[in-house]
Amino acid sequence: MTETTALRTAPLRARAEIDLAALRANVRTLRALAPGAALMAVVKSDAYGHGAVPCARAAVEAGATWLGTATPEEALVLRAAGLRGMRIMCWLWTPGGPWREAIEADLDVSVSGMWALREVTAAARQAGAPARVHLKADTGLGRGGCQPGDDWAELIREALRAEAEGLIRITGLWSHFACADEPGHPSIAAQLTCFQGMVAYAEERGARPEVRHVANSPATLTLPQSHFDLVRTGIATYGISPSPELGGPADFGLRPVMTLSASIALVKQVPGGHGVSYGHRYITPGETTLGLVPLGYADGIPRHASGAGPVLVGGKWRTVAGRIAMDQFVVDLGGDEPEAGAQAVLFGPGDHGEPTAEDWAQAAGTIAYEIVTRIGTRVPRVYVHESASV
Ligand SMILES: *Cc1c(COP(=O)(O)O)cnc(C)c1O
Repeated sequence: MTETTALRTAPLRARAEIDLAALRANVRTLRALAPGAALMAVVKSDAYGHGAVPCARAAVEAGATWLGTATPEEALVLRAAGLRGMRIMCWLWTPGGPWREAIEADLDVSVSGMWALREVTAAARQAGAPARVHLKADTGLGRGGCQPGDDWAELIREALRAEAEGLIRITGLWSHFACADEPGHPSIAAQLTCFQGMVAYAEERGARPEVRHVANSPATLTLPQSHFDLVRTGIATYGISPSPELGGPADFGLRPVMTLSASIALVKQVPGGHGVSYGHRYITPGETTLGLVPLGYADGIPRHASGAGPVLVGGKWRTVAGRIAMDQFVVDLGGDEPEAGAQAVLFGPGDHGEPTAEDWAQAAGTIAYEIVTRIGTRVPRVYVHESASV
């Protein structure tokens, strides 16, 4: 019995089942949507809570030729786990970051300003090898990236000088959207125009990037003219729609990868008028049964979903009764009496009647990205369909 099989069959308190066949199918679907571009699977933040290394492997099996992370540390972990042969890019750098380690691990790095260009060229001198650098343009997001105008002119001039000295290779020119999940938002066209101008400026002065890239999941799904040479898909890789306004995952041929469930820890009868959980924010309306679900905000179940989060128990949707505590919450089972150990499904693909991460996002007043990404380390990830042949 493999370790994974043991985990799968053990009576766990709770588990996040990760369907790697769904993830591979999502990657293939996204590649078909952007046929002219390479695909970068964004696996930052432990693959949005799904587990970086197994998800990265599965994405590469399905044709992702790039992996993306926020921090260099996340990218170095992928190489250390034996992921070789594909490009890995990381973009969230702070002064003193592991530039030399990144060069030696064959990472692609992002540079948004002069301090970073100085640090990466110094590290390349020490390493005796050129760094692969993507110059990031702020085309309107107002977050990372170099401002157009004088700042971009200086960064391009100095980056080309470093390239001529053999210290860096300008492998990418890139940017990020502010409102790609709101098709038709005027900022989208404005950012594309700005990006094209900043790319043209760099190329006219001699930059020869392998890849120009700007599309995240919503742009990959809705805006073909943003695909350029590479699309960077995060949330869609995990089968979640970037925004319910764009449609559900099935509308794009995507399937949610994570199913979060728990074994009910206790079922008991209580009289009417019984307060439930801290603060007694729920009072039983009459005699009923309560089920104790052993997951709480320490596991990433948002406390904001108190009194609102949906759970499938015995084929019926139940709602969190009262407050979600650190480790547990209660559902009113309305007189049903499942055995302790019965399954409570918080969210999954939705095709077996269970709620979705999007339902939890709505219950908590947030986005589905946050729901899956915050599932804590106390919840074991159980991988199914690990073999690519399935
Ligand atoms: C997180 C991230 C992505 C992926 O965004 P999704 O909306 O999850 O596809 C792409 N690019 C950058 C720079 C990011 O930080």
